[in-house]
Amino acid sequence: MTVLVVGSVNADLTVRTARIPAPGETVLGGDAVTSPGGKGANQAVAAALAGAPVALIGAVGQDTFRDVALRGLQGAGVNLGGLLTLDAPTGLALITVSAQGENAITVASGANAHLTPAHLPEDLGGVSHLLLQQELPPEVTLHAARQARAAGVPVLLNAAPTRDLPADLLGQVTHLIVNEHELTALRPDGGTLERQAASILARGPQAVTVTLGAQGSLTVTAQGSHRLAAHPVQATDTTGAGDTFCGVLAARLAAGDPLPAALRAAGIAGALACTRPGAQDAMPRWAEVQAVLA
Ligand code: ATP
Repeated sequence: MTVLVVGSVNADLTVRTARIPAPGETVLGGDAVTSPGGKGANQAVAAALAGAPVALIGAVGQDTFRDVALRGLQGAGVNLGGLLTLDAPTGLALITVSAQGENAITVASGANAHLTPAHLPEDLGGVSHLLLQQELPPEVTLHAARQARAAGVPVLLNAAPTRDLPADLLGQVTHLIVNEHELTALRPDGGTLERQAASILARGPQAVTVTLGAQGSLTVTAQGSHRLAAHPVQATDTTGAGDTFCGVLAARLAAGDPLPAALRAAGIAGALACTRPGAQDAMPRWAEVQAVLA
């Protein structure tokens, strides 16, 4: 059964500099590197590499960045039958990385911001799980979530990047995935991390997972809470760890894994993604995750 991702598709344009330029300042940097990005595309690629049939609904333009943006999706075999080409530039993230490892990112949403609910298909036949993020217009994300719930399809929402999460969207979500920073933005009740995550359950989701970087993850459901230690790795670039986690979680749930097994695979995949540079380029294939699970 197919994992459907309704999400953003970007090209990333990265330049390394000695330091992040101050307002009004020009800094000379190294060669510009283009790579595919956007949380929707990243998660779709992670899910496809984990072996799931994946379809993506998103939008690009007709410019030169289109090919960069689609490279990873095509390479991973994501079904792009629902991809729209709109009269707007392809989404572009301008990333400056300093020698100290800080970054400054400007996202020009372009075609992503021109998606409307009318672009979404009526029929979700063949879809087993819907995977969403927060980089599209909120009305598109909400419409997709409502359609899925009406069709009995579980909705996974990665509430990233941090932005207002409307109560009506949260109410449609089956499984919410956030990092600690994004959890705080949801203004959970105080207390331990477990209590904070559990307080979100009352607003709709059946499961809340908080990813904790090198500390692994925490998942709460009505049955209780479950901490999962990270798979130990020598992390060199954590870009895309969260996207890898979400994509693989959806892929393994679609494959029929029970939640604990799917979380374990997602955590291993997230860890492996930290051992290589880049986002989509760093994502592991299922055989690599399986080798750790074995
Ligand atoms: P990003 O925004 O960088 O993509 P995130 O903050 O959304 O990441 P993280 O919590 O950093 O997400 O990472 C997701 C998962 O990947 C973690 O729950 C963990 O399982 C794994 N992971 C991340 N960093 C490490 C690490 N240094 N060592 C081992 N596993 C890691």
